[in-house]
Amino acid sequence: MIIIFSGPSGVGKSTIINELINHKDLYFSVSHTTREKRHNEENGVDYFFINEDEFNNLINNDFFIEYEKYGTDFYGTGMDQLSTSNPITVLDVEVNGATKLLNENKSFIGIFIDIENEELIKRLKERGHDEEFINKRMNLANEQRSKINEFDFIVKNVDINTTVKEIIDIICNLEES
Ligand code: 5GP
Repeated sequence: MIIIFSGPSGVGKSTIINELINHKDLYFSVSHTTREKRHNEENGVDYFFINEDEFNNLINNDFFIEYEKYGTDFYGTGMDQLSTSNPITVLDVEVNGATKLLNENKSFIGIFIDIENEELIKRLKERGHDEEFINKRMNLANEQRSKINEFDFIVKNVDINTTVKEIIDIICNLEES
């Protein structure tokens, strides 16, 4: 089973996925990116951090099942991440990449995570972003929400524990069906 988590930046996808991994045996698909590593991230665990030349080489070698430019950086999912030896693989992919994968692979499950605008602004501020950046991200969030119908499930992340429980229920139901 392949489950794609998507939604606007700042809705809490990584936190949700990390919590889910504590509760269920899931494989997290590690993407490649050209963006700078953050202080709390580890190469090969959160992302494979590479430069733009390396990224372009991987594109030319047809390594990615999808890739997108997001902001100023590139993000891509490598073929090798979707091995059938993992019963459940979860992906954290922005909305364009997610809808592309969902349209091309009817068996993939899409879960759109969202939160209220007020909360999204608060989180982006906490990450240290300025007003101009936040306005851009809010416009982008509205654009991303216009594709919400392409997802199988929509989960509002109000309280992390409730969200995780809701997603575990979704996964358990999918496993049973
Ligand atoms: P961040 O830089 O905050 O880690 O991620 C920015 C955005 O890139 C997030 O919305 C995340 O879901 C998305 N992203 C991460 N990996 C991939 C990927 O492999 N492909 C695509 N299309 N988006 C990705």
